[in-house]
Amino acid sequence: MKGVTVLIPSYNEQEVLHQLYARLTDVVASLHHYKFEFLFINDGSKDNTLQIIMSLAENDQRISYVSLSRNFGKETAMLAGLDYATGDAVIIIDADLQDPPELIPVMIKYWEEGYDDIYAKRRTRAGETWFKKWTARTYYHMLRKVTRIPIQENTGDFRLLDRRCIEALKQLREVHRNTKGMFSWIGYHKKEILFDRDPRAAGETKWNYVRLFDLAIEGITSFTTTPLRLSTISGGVISVCAFIYMLFIIIKTILYGADVAGYPSIITVILFLGGIQLLSLGILGEYLGKVFNETKRRPLYFVDLYNGSKRGTSEFRT
Ligand code: UDP
Ligand code: MG
Repeated sequence: MKGVTVLIPSYNEQEVLHQLYARLTDVVASLHHYKFEFLFINDGSKDNTLQIIMSLAENDQRISYVSLSRNFGKETAMLAGLDYATGDAVIIIDADLQDPPELIPVMIKYWEEGYDDIYAKRRTRAGETWFKKWTARTYYHMLRKVTRIPIQENTGDFRLLDRRCIEALKQLREVHRNTKGMFSWIGYHKKEILFDRDPRAAGETKWNYVRLFDLAIEGITSFTTTPLRLSTISGGVISVCAFIYMLFIIIKTILYGADVAGYPSIITVILFLGGIQLLSLGILGEYLGKVFNETKRRPLYFVDLYNGSKRGTSEFRT
């Protein structure tokens, strides 16, 4: 019998867990041919999430859980989940029921047909502001252009991954994680299914624009060094322009003599160049910062509890 792990990263989700559990067990009831595992990752929740998971686990053999030592963020929580998942496939699903569990049978069907990565693409994004939709669209557009990796738009982490994708992802142990890009980067046979994303069932979103901006910069800098190239190119272009302008000034001075006017033009040029220089330095700094963090080679997370037993260090260090 094949095993399927449903991986649920959860951070302060006490309001929805019972509802989620009910929906999941409903869906799974019709799939007799698989051995299911519901793997909850408690990402350092500050509410009763862990207690609820533990009480659910007492009554259901299929539930296992990993409780991290603090909040590490969804990306890291998912990696912890992949590390601990025992199934032949993993289905990553949000705890807040924005990803309908009813799609699980469809995903499994395609998995049986031989696909390795079946991801759910949002047809609509109910309950999200037009600004969030617009920023998301623009961002994906830019990211695809810049990275040359076919990163899927309107796709979250809701997907089924075959064991070989899991093993691949487990090898990508970078501190700055952009899982969405990694799914594309590892390749394998992908299949898209469409769904309507519901608004969150209860509780609040953990994302704000600062975190999203962070994630956006992360996405670009972890997959491409194009920004560095751009600052080189703009440096080149500006130098060429400056050189041509210099020749122009020299010739003009020889022919017509020098006049000392031009304070406004000087100040604009200085400010413009200053801006470009700071921007380039900032870009350099972004990459240098990542190099710094990666060279520390720290474990990515620590586990506090695994199925009730205390854990010390992360066993999954590469
Ligand atoms: N999540 C997590 N750690 C965090 C933030 C979020 O494990 O630091 C989980 C959260 O519990 C949920 C999923 O990631 O299951 C998606 O979070 P959320 O619904 O807040 O994001 P959104 O749907 O608004 O993108
Ligand atoms: Mg959500």
